[in-house]
Amino acid sequence: MTAKTVPVDTFDLVIFGGTGDLALRKLLPGLFRRYADGQIPEDSRIIGVARDKQSNDDYRAKVNEALASVVGGEPSLQAKLAPFLEKLGYHALDATKDEGWQAFAEELLTHGDRIRVFYLSTSPSLFVDICTRLKAHGLNTGKARVVIEKPIGKDSASAAVINDAVGSAFAESQIFRIDHYLGKETVQNLMALRFANILFEPLWNSNYVDHVQITVAETVGLEKRAGYYDTSGALRDMVQNHLLQLLCMVSMEPPAAMEADAVRDEKLKVLRSLRPIDAEDAAQLTVRGQYRAGASNGGAVPGYLTELGRNDSRTETFVAIKAEVDNWRWAGVPFYLRTGKRLSERVSEIVVAFRPVPHSIFEHTAGPVMANKLVLRLQPDEGVKLWLMIKDPGPGGLRLQHVPLDMSFAEAFGVHQPEAYERLLMDVVRGNPTLFMRRDEVEAAWKWVDPILAAWETLREAPKPYTAGSWGPSAAVALIERDGRTWHEDAA
Ligand code: NAP
Repeated sequence: MTAKTVPVDTFDLVIFGGTGDLALRKLLPGLFRRYADGQIPEDSRIIGVARDKQSNDDYRAKVNEALASVVGGEPSLQAKLAPFLEKLGYHALDATKDEGWQAFAEELLTHGDRIRVFYLSTSPSLFVDICTRLKAHGLNTGKARVVIEKPIGKDSASAAVINDAVGSAFAESQIFRIDHYLGKETVQNLMALRFANILFEPLWNSNYVDHVQITVAETVGLEKRAGYYDTSGALRDMVQNHLLQLLCMVSMEPPAAMEADAVRDEKLKVLRSLRPIDAEDAAQLTVRGQYRAGASNGGAVPGYLTELGRNDSRTETFVAIKAEVDNWRWAGVPFYLRTGKRLSERVSEIVVAFRPVPHSIFEHTAGPVMANKLVLRLQPDEGVKLWLMIKDPGPGGLRLQHVPLDMSFAEAFGVHQPEAYERLLMDVVRGNPTLFMRRDEVEAAWKWVDPILAAWETLREAPKPYTAGSWGPSAAVALIERDGRTWHEDAA
C-alpha cells in the first residue's frame, strides 16, 4: 500500500498497442498496482487494442502472464489479480483501416459520457490514423484525453506533423505528452526540496552553484529496438526529452503556483534560454560515442555494430554535452549532460555541485574542504544525498570528512514508491497535465537539438568508440576535466 491513495473517477482506458512491450511491461503493471491500492473504481474498464485477433480471455491470459513478476507471492496482490483481469477487454482493430471502428466506438459509448483515455502506445506513424478515426467516430467526447509517447518526431519539422495531426482531432488541453522521467518520485521531490524549503533556493543560482551534472546511464544495449534506435540515436532518444526535462526542473524559476501552465511556462523559459550550439561550437561542446565489444552485467557483450548486424552505422549510443542556460540566474554555470547505452552502471541522477567555501580556516592536516553537492538519484534506488563536510568523529585532532546525508525514499518511508507510469496514468485520468509536456516545450526542445544534429551532419565525424561497460569515450571525460571538474562518482 502506498502512503495515501485518493481514488480517481470511473474511466475507460483504451491502450492502442495493448499487446506491445510498453503496455505489457509498464502500463498494465502500473494500472494493476493502482487497482490493488484501491485507486481505480470497480466499474472502470481497460481495453487493449491491436491488430492481432484474440478473445478477451486470451488477452487476460497474456496480461496475467505479464503481471506474474509484479504479483510475486504477495497474498494481498494475488487476491486483487482476478478482479483486475475482469476489467480488461480486448478489441482487434487495425489503426490504418476503417473496418471495425464503428462497432468499437459503439461499444465504448454504451457507458455514457465518462472519462475516456486513449493511450497511443504504438509507433508514432499511427498517431494520425488513430486520432483521425477517434474523432470521426465521435470518440472525442468532453472528457476524452489522448496520451502520446516519445519519440515525438525526429526533428522540429516531423514533430510539427505529429502535433498538427493530434491537434486536429484533440484540443491541446486534452493531449498528454508523456515523459515518464517527470513521474519519478525524485523529480517531484526536486520541486518539494526547492520550493518547500528555505534552505536551497537562496543558493540556487550562479553565486553558489558551480555546475550541474545530469547523467542517464543504461547498461543495456539495443534490446529489441534496433530498427528504431539506429534511426534515432542518443541525442534524439534521450537528450531531447528526458535530459532536457530534468534540466528544466533543476533550473526553472519558481512557478507562481503548482499548476500545470505555471510550471510549464517556467520550463519553456529555460528551454528558450538554452544557448544554441552551432557547427562551430559542436566539436568543443558535444561528444558522440558508439560502444564496442566489452563486458556488461557480468558477461561479455558485442559491440553496437555487431548487435545491429551492419558495419556502416554512425548512430551515437552515447552523448555528452556542455550546455548553458543564458539567463540571469544561471549565467556562467555549465550543465553537463551525459547519457549512453552499455555504460558501467545503470544510474540516472542530477548533481548540483555548489561552489567551495571562499576561505578555509583549517590546518592542512585537517584535509581538504570539499564543496557541497546535492545528488538526486532517479534510478535505480530513488533518493537524495546532500554531501557535507563534517569532523571525523573521535579524538586525535580535527580531521574533515566529506559525507552524505542520505535519504533513500524506500527506506525512509517504508512503502512502495509508485512507478512513474502509475502516477502519470492517474494524472491523465484526473486531467492534470502538470507533469506532461506542452506542445511549445517539445518545439523549443527540438529547436535547441536541431542545430546540434545539423552540426554533426556538417562535421561528418564518426562517433568515438568506447568499450561496453565503461563510462563512455575518453573525450567525455575531457569535456568536463578541461574545465577543472570531474564527473560525480558516488563513493558511499
Ligand atoms: P511494440 O512492442 O512494437 O508494440 C506495438 C504495438 O502496436 C503492438 O501491440 C502492435 O500489435 C500494435 N500495432 C502495430 N501496428 C498496429 C496497427 N496498424 N493498428 C493497431 N495496432 C497496431 O512497441 P512498444 O515498445 O510497446 O512501443 C510503443 C510506443 O511507445 C513506441 O512509439 C515506442 O517508441 C514508445 N516507447 C516505448 C518504450 C518501451 O519501453 N517499450 C519506452 C518509451 C517509449 P499488432 O502488431 O498485433 O497490431
